[in-house]
Amino acid sequence: MSDDLHDLYQEIILEHNKRPRHYGALADYTHTAVGYNPICGDKLTIFLVLNGDHIEAVQFEAACCAICKSSASMMTEALTGKTLAEAEAAFKRVADLLSTELNLEADLSVDGEIAALAGVRKFPARIKCATLPWHTYIAALKG
Ligand code: ZN
Repeated sequence: MSDDLHDLYQEIILEHNKRPRHYGALADYTHTAVGYNPICGDKLTIFLVLNGDHIEAVQFEAACCAICKSSASMMTEALTGKTLAEAEAAFKRVADLLSTELNLEADLSVDGEIAALAGVRKFPARIKCATLPWHTYIAALKG
């Protein structure tokens, strides 16, 4: 990954941290879960509104680091209005982008802003910060 691309990814992450999307508790959620990453101290709650296999709304509340909050913010944007199958594909793509073994090139034009999460691979200790919201989404689904 070039330094320029890395800077761009960092900018996207910082922007989501500053202005997180879909932030705040949802009163009429159908699914919820709390996720905790003891290594960093990240804690967040995911609220979902599911209608059949359609994700009508996703929101989150968090007391966590910038990477975790940005990843949660991007996740809410990526999953809102999607089907469960589409959400699963997004979950898998994020896991692949964060895999230091696969070491994939992300593509902003294809992946959207979640491409920026590939930049987190440079800081392996922080990968769990980025995956926490996604694992918490799965936990909420499973109740
Ligand atoms: Zn963290």
